[in-house]
Amino acid sequence: MSYVKVWADHEQLNKNEINKLKKDGLSIFEDIPKYARDGFESIPKDQYMYFKYAGLTVQKPQDKGLFMMRVKIPTGILNAEQAEVLAEIGHDYGRDILDITTRQSIQYHWVPLEKLPEIFDLLKKVDLTTSEAEGDAPRNVVGNPLAGIDRDELFDTRPTVNEIYRFFQDNPDFSNLPRKYKISINANIYNAGHAEINDLAFTPASKVVDGKKVLGFHVKVGGGLAAKPYLAEQLNVFVAKDQVRNVASAVTTLYRDYGYRKSRARARLKYLVADWGIRKFEEKVLELTGPLPSAGKDETVGWNGGFFFGAHPQKQDGLNYVGISVPVGRISSGDFSKIAGLAKQYGSGELRTVNSQNLIIPNIPDRALNDLLAEDIFKKFPVHPTPFTGYAMACTGNEFCNLALTNTKDKMEEIAARLDREVDLDVPVRIYMVGCTNSCGQRHIADIGIQGLKLRTQKGELVDAYEIFVGGTLTGGGHFNERLKGRIAASLISDVLKDFLLYFKKEKEKGETFFTF
Ligand code: SF4
Repeated sequence: MSYVKVWADHEQLNKNEINKLKKDGLSIFEDIPKYARDGFESIPKDQYMYFKYAGLTVQKPQDKGLFMMRVKIPTGILNAEQAEVLAEIGHDYGRDILDITTRQSIQYHWVPLEKLPEIFDLLKKVDLTTSEAEGDAPRNVVGNPLAGIDRDELFDTRPTVNEIYRFFQDNPDFSNLPRKYKISINANIYNAGHAEINDLAFTPASKVVDGKKVLGFHVKVGGGLAAKPYLAEQLNVFVAKDQVRNVASAVTTLYRDYGYRKSRARARLKYLVADWGIRKFEEKVLELTGPLPSAGKDETVGWNGGFFFGAHPQKQDGLNYVGISVPVGRISSGDFSKIAGLAKQYGSGELRTVNSQNLIIPNIPDRALNDLLAEDIFKKFPVHPTPFTGYAMACTGNEFCNLALTNTKDKMEEIAARLDREVDLDVPVRIYMVGCTNSCGQRHIADIGIQGLKLRTQKGELVDAYEIFVGGTLTGGGHFNERLKGRIAASLISDVLKDFLLYFKKEKEKGETFFTF
């Protein structure tokens, strides 16, 4: 591969890079059956990193042979069989828990090593995979969870998502990137694909060519969160639907060949784009793609935060979708199975995952809508949730994540429930909690972001604590929230937020939101 030459000439590679040259990440799938047979002790510790390519992370405590496992769901669309299999895996192998992630994937915990081969078989039968759900490779392709049924989409992005997903999936040309790589493809005019926080994003656009209006995409590159967040910047190109693969391949090739491989901390595309500048990056893209038309009209008109609660008509007459709240994205396999069952009973069987960690049941005929909404399950997973629990998100946190400094999901639910009881607001407030600087729960784009850390008390005790950030949005190109001074012990965080929101309530005008979205 060309990057080997580029880097061999210049700088030392980091340890992971040297390992990846010895062995391709995807080859872990050849080793897993043997490890599953011989037991966890048979896995040399230096092989743990390769499991990531199979969407697996050794779960703490790290000696029990258990894994966190992630399944990709491109643009969040599941058919009935896929939804059933995901529920079954949670029940049979994942101690009954499914987490919906902020990249529309499903994540399991406590998955035993010896069961992996049979889980992979189950997933393969319904055309799902864990492959490259983690690791230094293209992750799940996110996008509009309403693709194909959306009155607010410029066009149906399902064929494009499918093409790009299949092009990159397990493609040996792109299975050794400097680090993770995130693609978004969306044509919803309210930025449902969260374009600006992805490495590569295709956003809805139009252009008049030879007197005719053509629909296609604009392209943003170099976005990402974590300790040093960047908002993706736009290339001056208009991309017709049949050129998406060409452009995606070019951007990814540049990242593969010129992305940094010395420091893991600087190995994301955002650093390369920032160092080169967007115009140089654009020139390099065009060298690979050949000439492309300049940018046309941006068709994005706002940002919906990724929330789709309630029952709404689809673009297909007589059909509706129902957006359901799944508090902090965690659901039992039994409840997931029930919702999948209702999708089959009342709709087409399809179920969709949303990057706000919620679910959508599409394709409900008008005549069946009231009966569906009367089902008991919606008392637990409401379609019109309360303003805090409904709009709260949380990353995995210290229950299962090796990097977490604090709890997230339970704490976030506890805080949101208290705020729902004690702060009566006429608008929702999006509160997202993360357990470390990596920001998997996307705290940077929250109205109120909460980030976990450890704090030493005056008595010398180490306690869980949080920092608060305010004013994040992806409206108008985006703005990351800003840190308020001070660190707050976990025992005080809900008091502080309550006071803060009561102050907001007192000062705000009727209908005024915390931030624009
Ligand atoms: Fe783990 Fe940190 Fe990501 Fe949360 S943000 S899931 S704590 S790595």
